[in-house]
This record gives sequence, C-alpha cells and structure tokens, in this order.
Amino acid sequence: LRRPMIAGNWKMNGSAELAKELFKKFTAKLENDSAEVVLCPPSIYIESVRQQLEANKAQLNGALVRMGAQNVSQHNFGAYTGEISAKMLNDAGCQYVIVGHSERRRMYGETSAIVADKFAAAQKAGLTPILCVGESGPAREARRTFEVIAEELDVVIEKNGTLAFDNAIIAYEPLWAVGTGKSATPEQAQEVHAFIRSRLSEVSPFIGEKIRILYGGSVTPSNAADLFSQPDVDGGLIGGASLNSTEFLSLCSIA
Ligand code: 13P
Repeated sequence: LRRPMIAGNWKMNGSAELAKELFKKFTAKLENDSAEVVLCPPSIYIESVRQQLEANKAQLNGALVRMGAQNVSQHNFGAYTGEISAKMLNDAGCQYVIVGHSERRRMYGETSAIVADKFAAAQKAGLTPILCVGESGPAREARRTFEVIAEELDVVIEKNGTLAFDNAIIAYEPLWAVGTGKSATPEQAQEVHAFIRSRLSEVSPFIGEKIRILYGGSVTPSNAADLFSQPDVDGGLIGGASLNSTEFLSLCSIA
C-alpha cells in the first residue's frame, strides 16, 4: 500500500512566517494517518522551518512531516558558486529534494542528463529525489506526451538503473498545467501515471507497484479529491496552494 504524499513546493515564495502559520494549523488538525507531508521552502529557510518542525513535533499527533529542497547541485563539492550540495541539504535536515522541475529545465538549462546526475547525487547523500517529468502543451497536442515522459524517465533509468527508483518519488507535472489554473483532468493524470508505473514495472514489478507518483499542476482543494482518487495518483506536488496554509492543510487531509 502506498502512503499518499503531499509536497509543498514554495518556489521562490514564502517566508519563515509562512511556516509558523502552517504549523499553527497543522498542530490543530493534522492526523497521524493522513498523507506524508513534505515542505520544500527556499533553501535559505530550510533550517528555520526545520527548527519549527522540531519545536512543534509533539503537537503534530504523530503526523509525518518532513523537509525537502527544491533543487540540488549534481556535484559533491567545489568551486560552484551559488550551488548547494546534496550532503549540505542532508545536513540541514532534508530527506527529499525535487529534481528536474520544469522551471529549472526550461529557465536554467537543465537537460535530462543533468537531472539524472542530480538524481544520483541526491541518492548518494541519502536523500530521496522527487523526479519531475511532464510534457509541454504543444507536445500534448502533437500526441507526443508518452514519448516525452519516456525520454525524461529513460535518461534517469539509464544513468541510475531501475533499482534506483526503489528510493524515489516521481511527480507528473504537465507544463501547461503548472501555475496556469488549468489542471489536468483526473483521466489525463491517471493515463500518464499508469504509463509511468508500467514503464517502471517492466524492469521491476516490485518497484512499479511501490513507487509513489504525485500529480502537480494547479492542484487546489476543489479539484484534489477527483485527482487523488485515481488509482495511480498517490498525492500531489503543490505550488501556489502550498502558500496558503488553509488550502495546504485541506489538501493534506484530502490526500
Ligand atoms: P502550481 O500548483 O502553482 O500549478 O505549481 C505546481 C508545481 O510546479 C509544483 O512543483
């Protein structure tokens, strides 16, 4: 059985105050049998959010809340100005890191090969990568969705091996749904999630069955129930709605 996950990707938003507000809501409402919750604030806030998590732990009713980062260097250490290594994220208390988000692929030139290296670097430092894949609007219109997803997955599989997915999360984030207010339909999401799962199952049925596949792209409390009830949708990677503590908490209880 796959425990649902809700990961909040704050992107370049939020503040230490936002975390305070979140925990105030969480301590009152989060249940220990609800989704695993992952908070991915900007790196500069990871330490302070983690401290607040520690301070509130006793009041979280046993709910599973963990820290994640939004990006990681593919290198271990060295002269890479502005970068943060996987070990540093681990030292800061992260268990997860998002790799290959479409904003990084598109705006910062991250190729699938770089993403595969980041995936490897994360695992080597004991982090669980949350690998983002997804097609653009034109690719979907040209019926190339599966082709794009397969390519993005295969480069990571080739570099790391399928067994590496024993310790990974996948997030399906269609580019046309990210930050647009236009979510994929539950059917569209399910179709791609099933494709991803079957691709991993080809090499390892065990991993295919076990891996959690999150949907991301304009998830809100009003569309989440239908999306999350799809058999191969194991929760969500949340952008905009993760910045509103009421909406985020509501998503955590829907999952
Ligand atoms: P939105 O939820 O704002 O569409 O963003 C999704 C996303 O990119 C999460 O990583």
